[in-house]
Formats: sequence, C-alpha cells, structure tokens
Amino acid sequence: MICNDKEAIDYMVEEANTYTKDGRVADYIPALKVADPDTLSVAIYENEKTCITAGNTEETFTLQSISKVLTLALALMDRGEDEVFSRVGMEPTGDPFNSMIKLETHSPSRPLNPMINAGALAVTSMIYGSSVDEKLGRLLAFIHELTGNSSIRYDEKVAKSEYETADLNRSLSYFMKQHGVIEDEVEHLLELYTKQCAIEVNCRDLAKIGYIIANEGKHVESQRPIIPLHIARILKTFMVTCGMYNASGEFAIRVGIPAKSGVSGGIMASVPYGVGIGIYGPALDDKGNSIAGMRLLESLSQRYDLSIF
Ligand code: GLU
Repeated sequence: MICNDKEAIDYMVEEANTYTKDGRVADYIPALKVADPDTLSVAIYENEKTCITAGNTEETFTLQSISKVLTLALALMDRGEDEVFSRVGMEPTGDPFNSMIKLETHSPSRPLNPMINAGALAVTSMIYGSSVDEKLGRLLAFIHELTGNSSIRYDEKVAKSEYETADLNRSLSYFMKQHGVIEDEVEHLLELYTKQCAIEVNCRDLAKIGYIIANEGKHVESQRPIIPLHIARILKTFMVTCGMYNASGEFAIRVGIPAKSGVSGGIMASVPYGVGIGIYGPALDDKGNSIAGMRLLESLSQRYDLSIF
C-alpha cells in the first residue's frame, strides 16, 4: 500500500525537489511568472478514501493543458466519437504543443490530436452551450462533480493575462476557421479556452480526477459512472501517446503511466485500475513538463512498479 508509506513518499519528494534548480517557471503567460520555482507537492488517491500527501497540497495552481483531458471528455460525451474525431486526429506530433507546422503540412488541415493547442481549441469549440458562460459553467460543473470540490473557479488574472497574449493560439484558431475545423467566433473561443486553462485546483483535486479516469470513470465515493468507460479509455490512451508534450515517448519508457502535464507545473497521472496522482512543481524542463514532477513520477513508478508496460 502506497498510502502506508508516508516516510518513503516524503523522501522521494525531497529528493525530486533538488531538481527544481535546473528548471524555469513558464513566463510566456505573464501571470505564471510569479510561481515559486522551488515548490513540489503531491497527492495520491489509492482507493476511494485514502489520499496520501506530501508538500504543501493546499497550494492552488491553474490547470493549463491538463484541462485538455477534461474538455475532451466533455466534448466526447456531448458529441460522440465520430463527430469529435472528424475534426481532430488521434496521432502524436513530436512537435511542441503550440506548433503550427503540421496544421499546414498535413492534409486535411485538422489538428493531429486533442492534446496539442490546435486540437484542444478545436475540442473546446465542440462543447455544447449557447454562450461562453454556459460552456464554461458546464465544464466547471463537470469538474465539481469529479472532485467533489464545488469551490473550484477560474483565476481571472491568469485568464486575462493569457487572453491578452494568446496571439499564437489566435492564429491557430483563425487557420482552423479558414479550413472549416471550427465555426466559432475566434475571440469567443479564445475567451473560453483561456478561462478553461485558468481553472484553479490543488494536488488533491488532480489526484481525485486522475483516480476516476484510472478507475473506469466511476465517481470515487458513490461508484456512479461520471465518465463512460470507453471515454475514460480514450483519455488514458491520449495521456500515454501525447500527454507529456514531445517527451511522451521518453516518459512512457522511464515512467510508463498515463499522465498529462500543464505549463503551470501540474501533472495528473492515472494508473489504470490503480492510483490517481496529482503533482505541482512549477519549475519546468525545456519541453514544458514539471522537472521535479517528472523525477518524482519516475521514483514512484520504480518503487511501486506502476508502469503499465
Ligand atoms: N494555456 C496554455 C497555452 O495554450 C496551455 C499550455 C500548456 O499547459 O501546455 O499556451
């Protein structure tokens, strides 16, 4: 039982924390610059009740790209696989998350997968709702249901900061609009996307969502299905093939756990039929993954034999 091993977890966090000195917090979204680069915290749900934590797990941070997993779940529940995958592909790119290159060189011009920015923007545009507020409200309600934490909101400062500087995401959206991948007004889509990325959680929230995705999409306490099984499987598969940016292959070899990271330094990991893990460590490596978080997941995987491969 991982949850009886508090001393070992504390030690692993301490050891992984020494890696933060080699990372840098994201600064292309101005509001993310203020994060403390030396922080590292983790929460692990091992079963419906037990959660082990280390570090300051009360600290909140924004989901950023981790939100892509949740919008994909919602869009798949709203529209079904056929429609979603007619607009976004299923293949990893090997390119940075905000790259435009494959959109232009591939035919048809649809994004290769839902975990890169272009694909996530296309997915977000498929969430049902007649306004930005309604769509965001549905996403937040879904997150409240998953976490049991109804105080989760988006951080207005981070959303505004990203919205004002999101010219690359704007250009991806305009490109996709020209090619018929999205129909929304680009500014409405950008408003929704930047708010979705700015949803604020703590490690416990992430670990709980990770646990639900790991365990057939069933609600932690009631076992009621929240995410249909086949969708939970799709989410985990994308987490393996494209969840850790263009380091997903190396991560699969070294760690072997379906996971999704975000540029705020969060990582959500789901061991199928096993634990859910939430990590926060804002110092990033050159691919955009939490540098200490990656190290910690490697240690956890080795010690508890968590690789799915
Ligand atoms: N909001 C960020 C962006 O679109 C998310 C990127 C990430 O976490 O990978 O640039």
